[in-house]
Amino acid sequence: MIVATDAIVLRAMKYRDTSKILRLYTRDMGKVSVLAKGARDRKSKFGASLEPMSVVRSVFYWKASRELHLLSQCDLLLPLPHLSDDLHRMRGGMAIIELLDAASPAEEKNETLFALGRTALHLVNNATKRPENALYLFEMSLLDNVGFRPILHRCVSCGESFDDGRRIARGVELDAARGGFLCAGCVGGRGEALRISGAAVKILQRLQETQVPETAMRIAMSEALASVVHGTLRAFLLHHIDSLKPSKSEAVFAGLL
Ligand SMILES: [Zn+2]
Repeated sequence: MIVATDAIVLRAMKYRDTSKILRLYTRDMGKVSVLAKGARDRKSKFGASLEPMSVVRSVFYWKASRELHLLSQCDLLLPLPHLSDDLHRMRGGMAIIELLDAASPAEEKNETLFALGRTALHLVNNATKRPENALYLFEMSLLDNVGFRPILHRCVSCGESFDDGRRIARGVELDAARGGFLCAGCVGGRGEALRISGAAVKILQRLQETQVPETAMRIAMSEALASVVHGTLRAFLLHHIDSLKPSKSEAVFAGLL
C-alpha cells in the first residue's frame, strides 16, 4: 500500500554506506520507521527533508508484515529555519520530538497529537523570546491527549478548591500518582514530595486553559518559576508515560547553556 502523509521527523540514523533509517511521526499512521535508500548520496532526491524536527510530506510503501517501510519521497512542508539557529530554540524543538517519540506506540494513529507536535515546533521556530513556553504548552497538551489531564483547581485529597487562592497561598505538594496537588492542610510528612508555589499552580492553570497556542508564548515567568513549572510537568509525564526516560537532549543542553 502506498501511503502519502504529513509527518514530523523524530530521528535519523545512518544505515549502511549511503542510506538512512528514519523514525517519523505521521498524521495518518502515527509513528513509523522508514528506510531512505541513497539518502546520504550527495545527489539524493530527499535533500534536506530528513533532518530531525523537519515537518514533511512523506510517501512510503507500507507493508503490514514489516517494521521498516520503504520511503519513496519526502519534501519539506513547513520550513522551520530558526529551530537550529539558536540553542534555546533547538533545545525546545529536540525536547518536543523526544516526547512525541516516547509518548507514542508504533503505528497508532493520533491526529491530534500530530497537530500538537507540529504547532509546538512552529511556535518554537517563531519565538523571539521564551521558546520554552512552547514546550511547556506541548507537555501540558500531551498529558491531556494521552488521558492524564492534571487536576489543577482543587486538592486531589480533600477536594477543596484552589480558586480563591487561600489553599495555595503557602504552596502545595505534587502528588503525581493522583495527577495533581495536595493542599497545605492535606500534606502529610512525605519529605521527598515536590513543593510547588501558588504562582506555579496559576501558570500551570493558564497553560492548561490556553485556547490559542500563541497566547502561551506571552506568559512571563522568572527562571526559578519556569524551572518549577517544567519540573512539575516532567514529573507528571514521567509518572504516566512508562517509556519516557529523563530527557537526553536536556542533559546535553544543560552542559551548553
Ligand atoms: Zn487538601
